Amino acid sequence: MGIDLVIRGGTVVDGSGAAGYVGDVAVDEGVIVGIGAVEDHGRREIDATGMLVCPGFIDGHAHMDAQIFWDPLATPVSMHGVTTVFMGNCGFTLAPVQPGTEELAIRSIERAEDISRGDLEMGVPWGWRTFSEYLDAVDATPKGLNVAGYIGHSALRTFVMGERAYHDPATEDDLARMGQELTDALAAGAIGFSTSQISQHRTVDDEPVASYIGGWDEVDYLARVLGRSGAGVLQLATLMAEPENQAHLLRLARLSGRPVHQGCIYKADQPEGFRSSLAFLQQAADEGARIIGQAHVRPLVNVIGFKVGLPFDRLPQWRELRRLPLSEQRHVLEDPERRSVLVDEALHGSYVTSKVIVEVQARLPDYENLRVLESPLGPNPSLADLARTRGTTPVDLMIDLSLAADFEQYFTQPFANQDEDAVETILRHPRTIIAQSDSGAHVSQLMDSSIPTHFLAHSVRDRQAFSWEEAIHMLTGRPAREWGLGRRGLVGEGCVADLVVIDPGSIGPKLPRAVSDLPAGGTRLVQEAEGIYATVVGGDITSAEGKPTEARPGRLIRRSRG
Ligand SMILES: [Zn+2]
Repeated sequence: MGIDLVIRGGTVVDGSGAAGYVGDVAVDEGVIVGIGAVEDHGRREIDATGMLVCPGFIDGHAHMDAQIFWDPLATPVSMHGVTTVFMGNCGFTLAPVQPGTEELAIRSIERAEDISRGDLEMGVPWGWRTFSEYLDAVDATPKGLNVAGYIGHSALRTFVMGERAYHDPATEDDLARMGQELTDALAAGAIGFSTSQISQHRTVDDEPVASYIGGWDEVDYLARVLGRSGAGVLQLATLMAEPENQAHLLRLARLSGRPVHQGCIYKADQPEGFRSSLAFLQQAADEGARIIGQAHVRPLVNVIGFKVGLPFDRLPQWRELRRLPLSEQRHVLEDPERRSVLVDEALHGSYVTSKVIVEVQARLPDYENLRVLESPLGPNPSLADLARTRGTTPVDLMIDLSLAADFEQYFTQPFANQDEDAVETILRHPRTIIAQSDSGAHVSQLMDSSIPTHFLAHSVRDRQAFSWEEAIHMLTGRPAREWGLGRRGLVGEGCVADLVVIDPGSIGPKLPRAVSDLPAGGTRLVQEAEGIYATVVGGDITSAEGKPTEARPGRLIRRSRG
């Protein structure tokens, strides 16, 4: 006799927000079968003395639609204790697609996700037509974590309209066909419908993505279809602080009767904007609309470095330099004359300012706020400060530090959530939810898969702004309920055994680094974690003592009605 797994002697923080308590957790056939003093012996046992035993974390906003096919562990998100990830956000999905016209879907994705056409063509086993067929393909792919997916507006539009999706308004017939495919996708288990209505999401030709061409009227139509299906979340990329967008969101919530989600951030150039967003969320709730702000736990930053991107890359001299392999770039930078030309251009060159500010692209350098990434949790010194103390220019310092680290020195440029009190105010609001990692997108520019470990290390252990119980609830039970995940997100008898065992003393992210492991050799950022002692998905151990195992127990989670 015996049972599959016993996690012994840890402190159970069960994801409900209730106080933690010391107890064993018994797992059999993928389900938690006992909590407390467990007499039975497990075929496998994990000694969790001194550790916290929690539900696996849920990453509610990711873009793993393509990556899941070539990276079954969905790294680095699974390295941070995440056992369920939601993909297909912001209107970007790989289905539906008319076979032979995959290019049309890729056109909306490649720049936003920052994965090249070559990587997408090579790494994705195209061949599906409908979203339902795509879900079947994801279902059949061995995975180390659970995934669930929205159907994305850009793919839906190009599926129905072809090339016209990038130029034309939809006809009555186009709308009806989009509505039918959306209905079918929801019936097949899509967790909702997503769209982008911001001009910052662009194609490589610097045109708006297909969903943006569709516009608000088309989203209204599709929101009604979502409402008739009676299932799923409507997720939008939009700027909630703008009053006109608030009117759109309220209308969509009413038309669909479904939860409506969009980002809620602090912007330094509009410091009171987040308060207007929070007031709007409350007002919507008072009027019976369910509008939720997806929140981040720390400043949003562009990660900058020679192995990924630099703010100077588009200047003519730098463009020449950056075409060379890194070893040759080093050669040039070690030649004083050639280097001084580059430094001069970086300091005084004419930066082209596009009318459209693309959120996730390197900004013109703001050296006072550009940080030298020395420690994962910070505080990190500003490049300008450090340059002053060393009597050099910020550009020279950036070059020197990068050469000394063999180009493995990174820098961060914050573009939102710079105010820590504002971030905490957003997180404490009852109508917000942690869901903004964008894991799998902007892969050489952002590195936010570490939301869970950063939040627990910085906001909980170091700042004590939240208790462990509160924070773990925010990463597990709360999103599980919001997205209707049933028996997940809690450590309780009868719940699915998606679990993470963490060391509260050491949990935290490591420094990010660049790897060139995309299918066609493209580069992305990864970031590992400390203190994730074990991860369990559906009762199988997927990481032990910080190392991934061979187990691939992840499921496709299909949304049921309601
Ligand atoms: Zn997104």
